[in-house]
Amino acid sequence: MGKATGFMEIKREEAVERDPIERLNDWKEYSTPFTDDMMQRQGARCMDCGTPFCHIGMDINGATSGCPVYNLIPEWNDLVYKGKWKEALDRLIKTNNFPEFTGRVCPAPCEGSCTVAISEPAVAIKNIEQAIIDKGFENDWITPNPPEKRTGKTVAIIGSGPAGLAAADQLNKAGHTVTIYERADRAGGLLTYGIPNMKLDKDVVQRRVDLLAQEGVRFVLNTEVGKDITANELKEIFDSVILCTGSQKHRDLIIEGREAEGVHFAMDYLTAATKHLLDESQPPVNTLDAEGKNVIVIGGGDTGADCIATALRQGAKNVVQFGKHPQLPLKRTEDNMWPEYPKVFSLEYAHKEAKAKFGEDIREYSIQTKAFIKDDAGKLKELHTVEMRKTRTDNGKLVYEEIPGTEKVWPAELVLIAIGFEGPEPTVLEEFGVETKNRKVNATYGKFTTNVDGVFAAGDARRGQSLIVWAINEGREVAYTVDQHLMGKTSLPTVLAM
Ligand SMILES: Cc1cc2nc3c(=O)[nH]c(=O)nc-3n(C[C@H](O)[C@H](O)[C@H](O)COP(=O)(O)OP(=O)(O)OC[C@H]3O[C@@H](n4cnc5c(N)ncnc54)[C@H](O)[C@@H]3O)c2cc1C
Ligand code: SF4
Repeated sequence: MGKATGFMEIKREEAVERDPIERLNDWKEYSTPFTDDMMQRQGARCMDCGTPFCHIGMDINGATSGCPVYNLIPEWNDLVYKGKWKEALDRLIKTNNFPEFTGRVCPAPCEGSCTVAISEPAVAIKNIEQAIIDKGFENDWITPNPPEKRTGKTVAIIGSGPAGLAAADQLNKAGHTVTIYERADRAGGLLTYGIPNMKLDKDVVQRRVDLLAQEGVRFVLNTEVGKDITANELKEIFDSVILCTGSQKHRDLIIEGREAEGVHFAMDYLTAATKHLLDESQPPVNTLDAEGKNVIVIGGGDTGADCIATALRQGAKNVVQFGKHPQLPLKRTEDNMWPEYPKVFSLEYAHKEAKAKFGEDIREYSIQTKAFIKDDAGKLKELHTVEMRKTRTDNGKLVYEEIPGTEKVWPAELVLIAIGFEGPEPTVLEEFGVETKNRKVNATYGKFTTNVDGVFAAGDARRGQSLIVWAINEGREVAYTVDQHLMGKTSLPTVLAM
């Protein structure tokens, strides 16, 4: 363990964030990495407590507690405290293929379950994770490591998000020849076109994609399976196919005026902004640019926050975020105790930026949009809302009811719908003849097999909209299953074996 009394003597430190007003002038990452000293101090706070809920990776009470890739957190905390960086890196990459992604954007369910967090702020696990992997790249400790022997077996992976990349990494290590098909012009899935650059720099994503390519993974971009190549062709060419197509079927808000010019899905907006950033020859479509506009983001989650941060950088006149739920409590409530994920109020990076710019929190809670109102030219000009009250029916069911007299009109020229996704897009699944259940690919966790022989599924397509760390977990686990299917045995790691 680190320093015996570290958890009593040393306070939690977090990565230093750049000034919220200054950072609105660029698209660079908003926080700066931990220094060596900070890493060692935080590593010293870990007690290696013997009740390591930090790495249990389990759903408790509807949210993830602990690390879903079972990162060996107390081990690398100790190594960091002792200044053994290379050894810490070796431990970290044993369980996580891409700590440079999770270290930047994971919501860190490990920290909510950290034993120190029972009475003090948690060990800064996520920042340590990022610092270890960044140090690994800076020192050239991470170099291409292709397999010594090839098995002659071939695997096609559809979708290059974190699930597809993790599965490819594992299967390539096992010696199989892996090809990833991706319909976008760049690999990375939502790591590339979804999460904005200020949260996860696209060079960080591309660096990993390049490394995988140098190790032998083949990327076929600009190719939509089901349109540019058929399922039957893939089944003929490859020994196995893994569907890692994500969960990107938009959830829409079908109300009066939905067709107004200026009402868009958040994902279209975020994708256009990142495409423009990466390639200035692709300007954001005029209606998707927030400059000088009153912007309303409908949806209180992470995607909504990313829209706020993007609109602020584009020079929006005003930004408001609507959430359906009431504001979260400042502290854990009795029905949300440790080691559960803390459901408490927080100011995300985007909210801090908006508060710095407009002088107040821009979130509106318990609000329902009733209509989009357009002008004579069909352009959005305002939005009508009403406040909602959350109550329980006699049989205990939660329901929302409108509060009379709370109707309000908001000026708006750009509205971004960020109310989540309904599930995987159906076309490619229909093409393979793959069955769905509850709007997800019907494949049991741990088996990952679909109803079609040789076709597997992992990540958000199988699980529903989730987290990067779960996508990595599923990518690793499906690789274990596919290797076994192809070879009759496997030496790939799994967290599911007894
Ligand atoms: C805006 C936004 C912000 C988020 N922020 C966070 C965050 O901060 N932290 C976090 O942990 N999680 C976050 N998430 C969730 C996280 O990004 C996803 O859970 C994760 O990316 C899922 O990985 P995946 O590999 O299953 O699918 P995806 O990342 O969705 O990748 C699927 C890929 O499949 C491709 N594809 C689909 N169909 C085809 C086809 N027919 N042919 C070829 N290619 C195809 C798609 O183009 C896409 O590239 C965020 C999600 C969104 C939308
Ligand atoms: S991947 Fe997420 S849950 Fe796991 S150690 Fe890193 S920040 Fe924590």
